Amino acid sequence: MLCKSKILLIYTGGTIGMRKDFETGALKAFNFSKLLQRVPELKQLDCEIETFSFKHPIDSSNMNPAEWAKIATIIEDNYTSFDGFVVLHGSDTMSYSASALSFMLENLAKPVIFTGSQLPIGDLRTDAKENLITAIQIASLRKDNQPVIREVCLYFEYKLFRGNRTTKVNAEHFKAFKSPNYADLVESGVHLKLNPELFLPLCKDKKLKVHIDLDTNVTIIKMFPGISEAVLSAILDIPSLKGIVLETYGAGNATTEDWFLNLLSKAIASGLHIINVTQCSAGSVNMGQYETSTGLKKIGVISGNDITTEAAITKLMFLLGQKTPAKDFKTIFETSLRGEML
Ligand code: ASP
Repeated sequence: MLCKSKILLIYTGGTIGMRKDFETGALKAFNFSKLLQRVPELKQLDCEIETFSFKHPIDSSNMNPAEWAKIATIIEDNYTSFDGFVVLHGSDTMSYSASALSFMLENLAKPVIFTGSQLPIGDLRTDAKENLITAIQIASLRKDNQPVIREVCLYFEYKLFRGNRTTKVNAEHFKAFKSPNYADLVESGVHLKLNPELFLPLCKDKKLKVHIDLDTNVTIIKMFPGISEAVLSAILDIPSLKGIVLETYGAGNATTEDWFLNLLSKAIASGLHIINVTQCSAGSVNMGQYETSTGLKKIGVISGNDITTEAAITKLMFLLGQKTPAKDFKTIFETSLRGEML
């Protein structure tokens, strides 16, 4: 007999479960049990759903590595008892969390689907119901008694994306996320259109390994015409700093001024890891294509290829947390670990 899929719904907070504070008029998180009462349709789904709520649900602007560790641990503790996991999360930092969890959950063989909404679930025009119901449906999909999706994904407005390929692009539209460099894994219309050739391959016979140690001695610097030596050197002088995601122009280009390359070169020589990602919303870094990136390549800047900033900063925290040896760091960063880059 085929049993129904068992799904664990993890509520961390976010607009989906918020309501207006009477005094201030601001949206804030509220009780999860009330959230489920708002979606009686969940009972019609052909799966068993259990729920787990953060004791203090948060706006995702308060998300951080300690909260990611909580989500990872909840998944680890319940891994064998459930066929899939749906994480309800605020949209503001959802792409960071989905990216972080993709690195933290090694050898994942079950779906972990992040979703949320732009309007609270109690709102008449809410986008929450479709997002929640379809995310659960996709998490329940099975073929030959095995989960169909076996990676960390993000479902929003009719599309399932690989989580670590996404970025939030709109603060108002229901279509709030994009996956600029990787096609959609599933499209939801009258039917669910699956693109299995894009799914991550199964890590067969490998046990789930959960890594909760992330190193936050990192930062993101966005290049802009006029960036000053004083600002850059003040950042590079931070004693505890171990890694930087440098958002460069176009295909990985930056100013060729001596002070700039000298500062970066000294920092790299003293052990800092510098990752080159493009500040364009799509496309990839190709150091050496222009003269304005050959200097970066020469001094040992790491190529982020077509990675998003969200995936780059969380991968940096993860590899530092893993105490990746300095001599291997560049090669490992430039290798795709969870389908986050080409
Ligand atoms: N500020 C909210 C959050 O990220 C926005 C949302 O949920 O869409 O928690």
